[in-house]
This record gives sequence, structure tokens and C-alpha cells, in this order.
Amino acid sequence: LPRQPPSPPLLALDIGGTLIKLVYTASCGGGGGDAGGGAELRFAKFERRRLQECFEFIRAQGLVRYNGSTMGSSKENITLKATGGGAYKFTEDFREKLGVFLDKVDEMDSVVSGANFLLQNIPGAAFTHMNGKRNSVDISPNNLFPYLLVNIGSGVSILKVTGNRKFERVTGTHIGGGTMFGLAKLLTGCKSYDEFLQLSQKGDNFVLDLIVKDICGELVCQKQGLSTSTLASSFGKVITSKKNLTDYRPEDLASTLLSAFTYNIAQISFLVASILGLKRVFFGGSYIRGHKSTMGNISYAIDFWSQSQMQAVFLQHEGYLGALGALMSYGD
Ligand code: ADP
Repeated sequence: LPRQPPSPPLLALDIGGTLIKLVYTASCGGGGGDAGGGAELRFAKFERRRLQECFEFIRAQGLVRYNGSTMGSSKENITLKATGGGAYKFTEDFREKLGVFLDKVDEMDSVVSGANFLLQNIPGAAFTHMNGKRNSVDISPNNLFPYLLVNIGSGVSILKVTGNRKFERVTGTHIGGGTMFGLAKLLTGCKSYDEFLQLSQKGDNFVLDLIVKDICGELVCQKQGLSTSTLASSFGKVITSKKNLTDYRPEDLASTLLSAFTYNIAQISFLVASILGLKRVFFGGSYIRGHKSTMGNISYAIDFWSQSQMQAVFLQHEGYLGALGALMSYGD
């Protein structure tokens, strides 16, 4: 008997300013097809400038369905759900190279659906990261909303989420991951984001950062009850130093950049959450990259500014919220 062709995997894309994110389904446990076994989600990302590699991956993984006819393998005319600005910009490229049409899904809608999906369906997807310890956060449907969602990508979007598909984009900042990584490339010569994170791990930000003690002297600080190690000015020590850029270690520059941007974004998030009276702040976006000290610094800053009244919560697959949301929209 002729066998039924297996149902094609689902694929959704989020084509952002820096990265292309893919979320797709793969059947597991049942030997392919949708009979037996379930489907699992898989994740992949490409730098936006490597669009061709992304096309090759999609083809190689069989994510674009060819019709099984023996009379040549013409591609089926299929539609892929896609979000992010690049979904508009690259529509033609996808049509030409893969023969697929990109069905655009709103970016903020997608990010929120992706976050809500993770929070409501994946046990252990949400966790805190305080003092080097990771603890999963129990989310039940009646204690989830409202929350603040801070998506740190090339830029930063800050959303108030009050329910499934109910949200408002409150504000954002253009000083985000793109800014930090752009400066990192110029200042440290790093070639990749992971290399930048590794450099920062080995660096000391106090070589460049001005702390309260540097300004007041230790004695005055102690008298006035100021914490001596509080950051007064990121990169502030450079001004009074005779050093040139090449005199600084890339490791120290990376560490200073990461702490400057991370604390700044955390502080803005705290301020927005305070204005809105929200106690829980979820962080997403590829900026975080599961990096422990980034999460640690965000958690520390939120705890510090809120006097322990607010909690920073992180998500597994944090960089794929938009792509996940776009995948969810196949069900609409
Ligand atoms: P966008 O949708 O704007 O591309 P993302 O959520 O994908 O945003 O985050 C992009 C940011 O994440 C970059 O600006 C950088 O700070 C960081 N990042 C993480 N991984 C990478 C990577 N492999 N290449 C470049 N930037 C990365």
C-alpha cells in the first residue's frame, strides 16, 4: 500500500536586526510522521548577514516541503509564519531562494505569545538567578498576570502583559544589545558575541569604572555610610588616565561594557515596573544568551533598586520568544 507522506514540519522565523531565529517541529519517538510519537520543538539561529546559510539549513533539514512526485521535485507553494522587521525586507529573497511566502505576524504579538506559551506550558521554563543560584519559579495561571516583559534584542522593548494576547508596549530604548555589541566590536576587536562574553568573564570592570570610593576616598565614604564599591560612572576612570585604547585589555573593556549596559537596562526596567506597580519582570531576548553574570547583574540591580520588592525572572529559550509566538500563530 502506498504510504501516507509524513506531515511536513512546522517552521516559523523571527528575522531581527541582528539575528534570524528559527523554531521548528520535529517528530520524535514515532519514526516520523504524525502517527505515533509526539513532536518536539527545535531551535536554530543565524546572523542576519548569513541569510544564505539560513536558506541552506532550511533546505537541508527538509523544512520546506517538496512534493513527493517522481516527476521532478517541484516545491510546494507554502507559506511560513514570520515576524521581525526582516520578514518584510527579505520577502522576495525567501520567495526566490526557497519558493515560500512569508506570512507576517506582528512582532510584539509574537514576543508576548511566545513568553506566555513558555510560561504556561513548559514546566521549569522560568527561573531566577540570584547570587549565582538558579531557582525555578512556579507559575500558575492565577499568579502569572500582570507582568513586565523586557525583551533585550538589538534594541529593547518593554511590554506590560495582562493576559493571553493582552499587552501594551509601554516603552523601549535604542540603547540595547546592538549598541553594546557594536561598541564591543570596535573597542575589543571581538568577532562574535560568545567571544565577547568570554572576554568579559576574564575581565575586571574596575580598571575602567569609577566607583564611589575613587571620588570620595574610603574614609569619607565610610563616614557618610556610602558603599565604597558602588558604581559612580561606567568608563569614568578613563578620563583621568593617560592610557590609550590599546593600553586597556580587551577583557577589561568587555567586562566594563557588559556591566554598563546590563545595569542600565535593569535600572530602566525597574523604573518602568515601579511606575506600573508591577512586581515581576521577565527578561527575554538574545542579549541574555543564558549568560550567568548577565542574569546575575540584572537580578542584583532589580533587587537593589526595588529593595527586594521586585523579582527578575529569566526564561529558557529567551532569544526565541518572537519565533515561538510566530509558530503559535499557525493555530490561529
Ligand atoms: P534582534 O531581533 O533585534 O536581532 P535578538 O533578540 O536576536 O534581537 O538579540 C540580538 C542581540 O543579542 C545582539 O545585539 C547581541 O547583543 C546579542 N547576541 C546574542 N547572540 C548573538 C550572536 N550570535 N551574534 C550577534 N549578537 C548576538
